Amino acid sequence: MSDCIFCKIIAGEIPSTKRYEDDDVIAFNDLNPQAPIHFLVVPKLHIPCAKDITAENSAYVAKCFEVIAKLTKGFDTGFRVINNCGEDAGQSVKHLHFHVLAGRRLGEKLCAEI
Ligand code: AMP
Ligand code: ZN
Repeated sequence: MSDCIFCKIIAGEIPSTKRYEDDDVIAFNDLNPQAPIHFLVVPKLHIPCAKDITAENSAYVAKCFEVIAKLTKGFDTGFRVINNCGEDAGQSVKHLHFHVLAGRRLGEKLCAEI
């Protein structure tokens, strides 16, 4: 997808602070961190949103979670994984990604009403 920010990061056309990369998955720090540790785990295949996960592409999702397990080794007090899909969830980048947040108590509320 030529107009997708995350595809451009994957292609190396936009810089990022990479935490991990293999053939299928990339992980990099969020530009606007919401916690002391906040990175994004992104499949290299352009899947727009969680509703677009299918039997054909779900291996990428499994790989994302394998990477999350690797990158959170030592996060002994826990962490949170978030995916936003669509307008109501405030998805701003239309390329499937998983936020990983850690480094402080995150609070019990998953969301605030607007
Ligand atoms: P979402 O709102 O779930 O679509 O999350 C998109 C996330 O991507 C936001 O938290 C942004 O701060 C982050 N983001 C946008 N552009 C970049 C970038 N170039 N590098 C790193 N993170 C970015
Ligand atoms: Zn993309």
